[in-house]
Amino acid sequence: MLVLHGTGVSSGIAIGKAYVLHRERPEVPEYALPENLIEGEIRRFTAAIDSARSQLESIRDHIPKSAPPEISSIIDTHLLILHDKMICEAPVDTIRKKRCNAEWALKTQSDELSAVFEQMDDPYLRSKKTDVGQVVDRILRNLLVSNDEEHEQITDALDGQIVVANDLTPADIVLLKHTRIAAFVTNLGGPISHTAILARSLEIPAIVAVHNATRAIRSGEQLIVDGKLGVLIVLPEPGVVAEYQHRQKRIVQLKRELETIKASRSETRDGCAIKLYANIELPDDIKAANKVAAEGIGLYRTEFLFMNRPDLPDEEEQYRAYAKVVKAIPGKPVTIRTLDLGADKRIDSNSRGGETITVNPALGLRAVRLCLHDTSLFRPQLRAILRTSALGQVRIMIPMLSSLGEMFRVLDLIEETKAELTRQGQPFDPETQIGGMIEVPAAAVSADLFAPHLDFFSIGTNDLIQYTLAIDRVDEAVNYLYDPLHPSVLRLISMTIRAGKSAGIPVAMCGEMAGDVRYTRLLLGLGLDEFSMHPSALLEIKRIVRESDLTELGRFAEDVLNARHTGELHALVDKMNER
Ligand code: PEP
Ligand code: MG
Repeated sequence: MLVLHGTGVSSGIAIGKAYVLHRERPEVPEYALPENLIEGEIRRFTAAIDSARSQLESIRDHIPKSAPPEISSIIDTHLLILHDKMICEAPVDTIRKKRCNAEWALKTQSDELSAVFEQMDDPYLRSKKTDVGQVVDRILRNLLVSNDEEHEQITDALDGQIVVANDLTPADIVLLKHTRIAAFVTNLGGPISHTAILARSLEIPAIVAVHNATRAIRSGEQLIVDGKLGVLIVLPEPGVVAEYQHRQKRIVQLKRELETIKASRSETRDGCAIKLYANIELPDDIKAANKVAAEGIGLYRTEFLFMNRPDLPDEEEQYRAYAKVVKAIPGKPVTIRTLDLGADKRIDSNSRGGETITVNPALGLRAVRLCLHDTSLFRPQLRAILRTSALGQVRIMIPMLSSLGEMFRVLDLIEETKAELTRQGQPFDPETQIGGMIEVPAAAVSADLFAPHLDFFSIGTNDLIQYTLAIDRVDEAVNYLYDPLHPSVLRLISMTIRAGKSAGIPVAMCGEMAGDVRYTRLLLGLGLDEFSMHPSALLEIKRIVRESDLTELGRFAEDVLNARHTGELHALVDKMNER
């Protein structure tokens, strides 16, 4: 038995036989060509590109209707890459200039592109290197292997098997979708790699970044995949299989049970209504939110509309995106967070999004600071959000507030925008609620000063923990220090909740802590009344809410806050969770 660890990117447990896909990049030969063969070589290259195009188009045409929309957009991205001059024209110049074979010309071009992607700071853009590599591999295979059908044949008899690969192409995933594979394991990838995104939307357990998985595992070997913890067990002992089978059954049973409370109220045993909202990144995510009957959107991360593109969305484009969300969840609040760009969330467009390389980007010109620094970025967004307020219940949320001055400047800008819209006869809701994210310790400590001027608070624990404990949230080396139960974090959360309550405004939480079942009872005990999270967590949190008694949890939470050392604190939280 061998236990390997990777990054769990799609939760669930799978037990099955491995199917190892060995599809390393083909060996690329290099040879010189005499002048008279150059034009023929260029035709061979063009034919390989044409074949790649028809292969991709054919895959796109065969995407099952039930497949998530991301699949076809990824295939479209591959088609765009294929048409890019860097891929379909630059190698032709190389063939002419260097008089080399087509494969070599393509390989040198692809190596150069790879190096450029490697230097990009933005992890999302860096991950695009994989797409370019996958397109190049396809062309190379067309050049090197005649009638290479291996790629399209991998779907045979894979039902119930666990696919282990160096990496999977979106095309692979389209094909795999026809079968009922049990899980994915890949050597490469990260939480935002395609494999991860697609696995989550297909609801298949998946682990990425299991180094050397394809070497350590042989086809036919039994595997256990725990997609939540990122644990991969190779050739498990019978007792371990039995244990995981039991856990698997529990998960299926739990899912079924959770479905039954979808329509039930989110209310504690002692009759307190707790709002459960969904976090979304893109308008399409609203489907997942509706599927679990979220009571609204507690965090719409609008910066995703600005990322991964060379230009900026104008007011109209933003209006359309926000309107799509508001209309898709009628009658329920949609909390639109103003731009939270900067630090790890960078945009391509020159001159914006904290383009200067700073020593501590998380402490730099990001989020509301950037918006106030560059109001030409902020004003169109405020106009778009306010215009959307005419269509439904829209709330504006300001990220990363750290001083009262910033808050007042934003409130003034909102008033100015309202006046402008009124002058122009554009409809909007004058009562649109404005809330602040409490994610900087300074704001939590002085929450009582912010509260009288805002309509709600939302605690962003991802940043609050990063700033309180001085741990960069994207630095793996300090991950181990990340601790939502650190007394300082709990005190800041409690202070924020109390300040909100005494000012009579609701306090929500939209960081990852809100969707983690280990903390639900404690947060309820601390008085949190709104939770916003990834839709997949919502029903489980609802179940806990429905089983909770706030008076009892309040007493426990008080003890947790008064605990004198970590051991005592953890024991109290465990005790709360046993109830
Ligand atoms: C947070 O910081 O907790 C939060 C919800 O915002 P983001 O993760 O987008 O920074
Ligand atoms: Mg944040």
